[in-house]
This record gives sequence, structure tokens and C-alpha cells, in this order.
Amino acid sequence: MLITSAQAILLQIPIEQRGPQPALYGRPWKTLDTLLLRIETDGGIIGWGEGFGFHGAQAAHSALESLVIPNLIGRDPSQIVPLMNDLQRRLHLYGRTGPVACALSAVDIALWDINGKMAGMPLFRMLGGSTRTHLPAYASLLRTGDAATASRAVEAALKRGFRSLKLHEVELDPVHAARDTAGYDVPLMLDVDCPWSPGDAIEMCRRMGDLELYWLEEPVWPPENYDGIADVRSNGGIPIAAGENAGSAMDFKHLVTAEAIDFAQPSVGKVGGITELRKVVALASAYNVTVHPHSPYLGPALLATLHVNAAAGEDMLVEHLFVEPEATLYGAAVRPFNGSVAVPQGPGLGLEPDLAVIEKYRR
Ligand SMILES: [Mg+2]
Repeated sequence: MLITSAQAILLQIPIEQRGPQPALYGRPWKTLDTLLLRIETDGGIIGWGEGFGFHGAQAAHSALESLVIPNLIGRDPSQIVPLMNDLQRRLHLYGRTGPVACALSAVDIALWDINGKMAGMPLFRMLGGSTRTHLPAYASLLRTGDAATASRAVEAALKRGFRSLKLHEVELDPVHAARDTAGYDVPLMLDVDCPWSPGDAIEMCRRMGDLELYWLEEPVWPPENYDGIADVRSNGGIPIAAGENAGSAMDFKHLVTAEAIDFAQPSVGKVGGITELRKVVALASAYNVTVHPHSPYLGPALLATLHVNAAAGEDMLVEHLFVEPEATLYGAAVRPFNGSVAVPQGPGLGLEPDLAVIEKYRR
């Protein structure tokens, strides 16, 4: 079997605005920008992949079109590991993280989808099998910047049945408001997106001591300051999560051996797809580090995360981005219900994206 064509597809799906305009990396956040990859084979099997999108979707789309897809045509999709190794080597000087890594992640996910479909098996079975039909999910709330809006978002997520929550705030008022609203029985995580020096982060941990955070995520700038994160972990008194910015299993090795994290957060759409995510899961397990993948995805990358989580045989939480997009790719099939999400049971990724949604929101 050979790959005959591949198309990068950029979707922009408006999200419902709750309260003040949310921001993402300093820009207004009005649409969910999703980067899809459709790979076609001469055997008629079509595989779907997804790379991390958001404001970087256009750049990763360009990387797919100009660098990656020309290297894919005519290749054998059944040789996932050799093919991915070859692409990684050919393109390494264009970036081991960022748009190129996101583009390669999309390829790997699509190759796994094709191989699962060829075998007539859902991916979780190809990855070792699982009896789990549902997985625990947490609501990942957008940054609000104010106490009242944070409180309302927490109420909305609890009402939807979520039993653990993550905030994206850097000020303490909204975090205290969220904790007051949720109570102390609900695990509460805080993702600050790399703002502080290690010293400032330790000081912030002291000020947050009474909040009983389940984890503090990415407290230190720059994200690759693993010794700095380790310093915060040993002196801040709050469990630490990080890893969504790590570009490979090798990068995770440095993060883990620096004793920087309690929770590893590889992102399947950034780290190199399912192949690399599995390496990170194995590595973390050897160091007694728990994996909770980063997965604010709408498409194949979300499905890929579900399959890897199911097959890992451990309680890995699914990150559900708590937004209401105007449309979704899989209807209600992977919409969390009472804090858990169903593992797709069809071959490959287990679900096919809604082509009408793709046509409508394609840019
Ligand atoms: Mg994060």
C-alpha cells in the first residue's frame, strides 16, 4: 500500500463567548482553529490526523504543505516507525518543536488511523487493549481574569458533571473564587502558562498554600528551564505538572531526570503523535511519574489521546477544553458526560469526522 495524496485542512470554528472576551497568548480568542491532515492511500483507506492548532494552525499548515507532504507521497503507510524516523531526520533542522513538530504529529496520527482501519481494529486494541469503555475527564477552563467570571465558569463545569477542574489564571483572586465555588472536595488544578522566574514561582506557591491545588502547571519561564521547575517543585510545596512544550521523548527524559515534575503532560499533536506519546508514557512509568496528556483538541488528536489513555491501563485524565464550539467533528460521541468520555470503538481512531462541518468551516 502507498500514500497517493495528502491534504492539510485548516478549520476555524467560532466558540461561544462566556463573559469577557477570552484571550490566548495576548490575542482575542474567538475561534477554535484546528489543523487536520487527510491522507489517502491506493488501497482506498483514508487516515485522519491533527496537529496542535490555535493561533499556530496556519504556520503548521504551511509546514505540512511545504515540508512534510512532499516527503509523504509514494511512501508505505504501514511502516509507521521507520517512516516517522525518516521524516524526523529529514526535517530536524526546521524545528524539533513548534509548527514542524505539530505537522509531523498529524502525520503519525493519520498513519495509525490507516493501520487500525487496515487491521479492522480500534487503536486501543492495537496498543495493547483495554476493557475501559469510558475515561475520566477534567474541564479545562479558559482564562477569565476576574473572580465573578471564574466562579460562573466553575459553576457551569460542575453543572455539566465534571468532578475535576483546571483554571488558566495568573492572578490569585479568580483562583480563590473558583476554590470557594467548587469547595475543597473537587480537585482543582492551575495552569499559569510559564510566567515566572523560579524565585517568584516559589513565592507564589507560598501565597497559594491554602488553595490545596492538585497541581500547578508550567510555573516557570522559559518552559525548558527544567532545573528551575525542579526548584519550584522541591521548595513550593505544590505538585508540579509540565510537558506540553516538550518536543520529544528525549526532552521528557531531561524533564523527568531533573526531578522537575509530578505529572507529565505530553501533547499528542505536538510531541510526534501516538508513536512518541507511547514512548513518553513508558519513560514516565519507569520513573513513577504520572501522565495526564495535554489534549485541548477537537479532532483526531483528541481521539488518539483517548486510545493511548485507554491502553495505558492507568488513570490518565483526559483534558476537555471547556468551550462551546459552534460545531464539532464527531457530534456527541466524545462529549464528556458526568465527567467521563467514551472510548471510540470503531476501527482506527474509531470515528470519522463530519465532512459537512469540514466543508463549512474550512479556511
Ligand atoms: Mg497547559
